[in-house]
Amino acid sequence: MSVTAQSVWDNCLEFIKDNIQPQAYKTWFEPIIAVKLTDNALSVQVPSKFFYEWLEEHYVKILKVSLTKELGETAKLVYIIKMENTYGNKQPFTEKIPSSNRSSVKSQDVDIPLNNKSPELRNPFVIPGIRNVKIESQLNPNYSFENFLEGDSNRLARSAGLAVSAKPGGTSFNPLLIFGGVGLGKTHLAHAIGVDIKDKYPEKTVLYISAEKFTQQYIDAVKKNNRNDFIHFYQIIDVLIIDDVQFFSGKTGTQDVFFHIFNHLHQNGKQVILTSDKAPVDMQDIEQRLLSRFKWGLSAELQTPDFETRVSILKNKLYRDGVEMPEDIVEYVAKNIKTNVRELEGAIISLIAQSSFNKKEITIDLARVIVEKFVKNTKREVSIDYIQKIVSDYFQMDIDTLQSKTRKRHIVQARQLAMFFAKKFTKASLASIGSQIGKRDHATVLHACKTVDNLSSTDKQFRKYVEDITKKLSV
Ligand code: ADP
Ligand code: MG
Repeated sequence: MSVTAQSVWDNCLEFIKDNIQPQAYKTWFEPIIAVKLTDNALSVQVPSKFFYEWLEEHYVKILKVSLTKELGETAKLVYIIKMENTYGNKQPFTEKIPSSNRSSVKSQDVDIPLNNKSPELRNPFVIPGIRNVKIESQLNPNYSFENFLEGDSNRLARSAGLAVSAKPGGTSFNPLLIFGGVGLGKTHLAHAIGVDIKDKYPEKTVLYISAEKFTQQYIDAVKKNNRNDFIHFYQIIDVLIIDDVQFFSGKTGTQDVFFHIFNHLHQNGKQVILTSDKAPVDMQDIEQRLLSRFKWGLSAELQTPDFETRVSILKNKLYRDGVEMPEDIVEYVAKNIKTNVRELEGAIISLIAQSSFNKKEITIDLARVIVEKFVKNTKREVSIDYIQKIVSDYFQMDIDTLQSKTRKRHIVQARQLAMFFAKKFTKASLASIGSQIGKRDHATVLHACKTVDNLSSTDKQFRKYVEDITKKLSV
């Protein structure tokens, strides 16, 4: 029997299959195609450079062992990547060349077995029964890059977004995960990327969807026995944008289906863009394998914009709405609303509305009243319960211990800190604080506040406690 690329590779696979987890084998080895064998070098095609990097990082040893078994000590592995790029070699054992002729090697369908060649597509965005081949992007054209003002707080995310829209699926930012707090522009930026791609590549299928809607569609699909249609639909998207993926927390079925869709898209060089209100490390109840996928590409944070950026966002908004407003008022609003661009815009809009409804001039006084309303409404009340939780978590004890009668020093200190913060962050009376934190009287609370004050000016370690907990309570 003659030795061919296929036969060599088949033997390697047999060996590898016996030595790694079935799921890993399926994900990482089934999609590989043996292309060519010259002397001692086997060329294999992999779906993307991520794939290649992943193999290099995790499986280079087993690849080496298996190939050496087949071809001897001088064996070499050459990667051909379906998407061209230029990356340096990581291991001397392997070599990677960009494929010169992409179409000469046909890609294989990988991933889940649901993938037949011409699936009857059922588009969950249209009423069943009506065949609609064109997929509406669900993008909002107003959320453009042009309208997304640049500042230090968003520069990385914004330029990663631009890189992605210039070459969807062709950068290492895949997936691109945009994360950050509420109202900082995640949805806007995600749309902007989609809008720009649609503009540059009209033939590409772009789809924006919230994680919540995706979940709902999936649940519906399962109910109607259309799970496969659902998956097929998502597998033909070129650029998939899923907003607020933290919504997948705890929803294992949806996570599972998304995992498969993600793998399929990724392996086929399709772009995935995700947003989340948390960094991957802080996401809870999301399966590890999904989290690890999120980390493949780039996680870019949107931070709270600085004063200059806030001013330019406001000015841009006013300009687009054709409204003029005195400089000092714009600055007043920008100065006082700091943590949320949506609120910033909200304040300016109600300012405009107030003045036009009541035919009042826009004055600093009016601005003050409105800003105050915004700031007050949105300031989260910190409760005494919450403070006790944060403090006891910080010292790794439970709340019962914190409230107990014990005189152990570290517990007493934790309790005193809880009282101190309750006094500082709530409007509760000393008596009420005392009764909620272990049924103490108001004198005990007063004493606790004084003790904390004293200790934090004399004891460095203690001051650190106060600072740490303050930080935790103010986010
Ligand atoms: P998130 O999805 O992070 O909660 P959004 O994308 O909905 O936030 O943004 C809230 C509002 O703030 C939107 O109206 C958006 O247009 C605006 N916005 C946020 N960041 C910027 C920015 N850098 N430039 C202009 N507008 C912004
Ligand atoms: Mg959003």
